Amino acid sequence: MPATAEPLKTDAHAAESVFSRLPAVDALLSRALLREAESTLGHKRLLHLIRMVLEDARQQLRANPAAEVSIETLERQILTRAEAEARPSLLPVINATGVILHTNLGRAPLAPAAIQRMVEVASQYSNLEYDLERGERGKRDAHTAGLFAELLGAPATLVVNNNAAAVFLALNTLAEGGEVLVSRGEAVEIGGSFRIPEICARSGATLRDVGSTNRTRLADYSAAVNERTRAILRVHPSNFRLEGFTEKPALAELVELASRYKLALIEDLGSGCLVDLGPLGFQDEPPVAASLTAGVDVITFSADKLLGGPQAGILIGKPEPLARIRKNPLFRALRVDKLTISALQATLELYLRGDLDAIPAQRMIHTSLQQITARAEQFAMRLGAISSLTVTLVDGESVAGGGSTPGRSLPTKLLALSLPQTNATLLANRLRQNQPPVIARVERGLLLLDLRTVFEDQTEALLQALQRLV
Ligand SMILES: *Cc1c(COP(=O)(O)O)cnc(C)c1O
Repeated sequence: MPATAEPLKTDAHAAESVFSRLPAVDALLSRALLREAESTLGHKRLLHLIRMVLEDARQQLRANPAAEVSIETLERQILTRAEAEARPSLLPVINATGVILHTNLGRAPLAPAAIQRMVEVASQYSNLEYDLERGERGKRDAHTAGLFAELLGAPATLVVNNNAAAVFLALNTLAEGGEVLVSRGEAVEIGGSFRIPEICARSGATLRDVGSTNRTRLADYSAAVNERTRAILRVHPSNFRLEGFTEKPALAELVELASRYKLALIEDLGSGCLVDLGPLGFQDEPPVAASLTAGVDVITFSADKLLGGPQAGILIGKPEPLARIRKNPLFRALRVDKLTISALQATLELYLRGDLDAIPAQRMIHTSLQQITARAEQFAMRLGAISSLTVTLVDGESVAGGGSTPGRSLPTKLLALSLPQTNATLLANRLRQNQPPVIARVERGLLLLDLRTVFEDQTEALLQALQRLV
């Protein structure tokens, strides 16, 4: 026998006796709180958590035979893990950034009426594609076409998955195999990898650059027209502004040029603003109705940006090109489901009723500096009760976001917070770990909160999150 056999055996025995301090799996399973956790997690997942915690405890005992491994301690550890496990990975957060349409935070929050409609339609059968009058197959976008017609005077509409899909479908249907004219100032990247030249290439249309980056004249477009030209694409430069020595033709001139050469005029409006935001200082956000009146053939925009509805892309314009787009087999691949249609329908009804206040994105945009200041002052007063937290009100700016209203912002009142010996980045990190997570801004070493994007009914949760910081 090798000389080392004896001591090894003794170690193993010692370890065995240390491990005997651990409770049995069954003993843990019969604890009242864990039985409760079992009802939400299910037996298999709870068992898995128990085994993981017991394994950790074994490791601890190996390192330190006197480690604390009472059944109560292990139970608490299992419950903490069970709580984390039961929490979905996609969950609501408090957006204190002041960016109203934050693409990373899910863009537009839906109106309560839209949510209610989704619940009703989702939990039962619906007439999604069924014409109740005639008792035969119908079209799913019929449910929103009438509303768009009433709101904008739109002769025809289609709804697809998002605006990227809408632009792609319009180009693929109307310009595949031919050329599409795009101003050099509009061959833009919107973010999230949506780039006009790449979408054109994938749609099978050849992009022909027109004019220069800052100035493109009508004559540049007409000089570029040749026998292969199928369409003109005008793009709203959503996320940047061209300032200074710039020029582009009026929409009416492009409409005239397109009709003279029998080309399709497609306009990617990006945000899809249904109301005039001019009074708020957003002169650069063209309303959809203006493009329709000007006579653009096909206009595309998102439903979850300024419109404040669910994720979708809207194609709107003349009946003939839209009928061709509907026949494209890719339309079927890019269509939306009943949840989207029902939420969109309910949101459009709010526009028809003139109830912008019921649409969160619109309400936030229209909240005045005075209202924000009053709210911020009240909140600051309540925060004042938290010792060691320093709160000041500072002037700042909220932005529409999501590529809307580029270069323009809304005046707001920010709460600037600081704690002694803690930097702003660390505070922001800790707020992100809160339940619910709070997303704040950090600028010039300050932790900033903008209440414009915080719902009234999140105020208490925000206050608690800040209390926990201290
Ligand atoms: C946002 C935007 C898009 C992309 O829209 P999605 O709905 O995110 O697909 C395309 N074009 C413009 C001009 C935009 O602003």
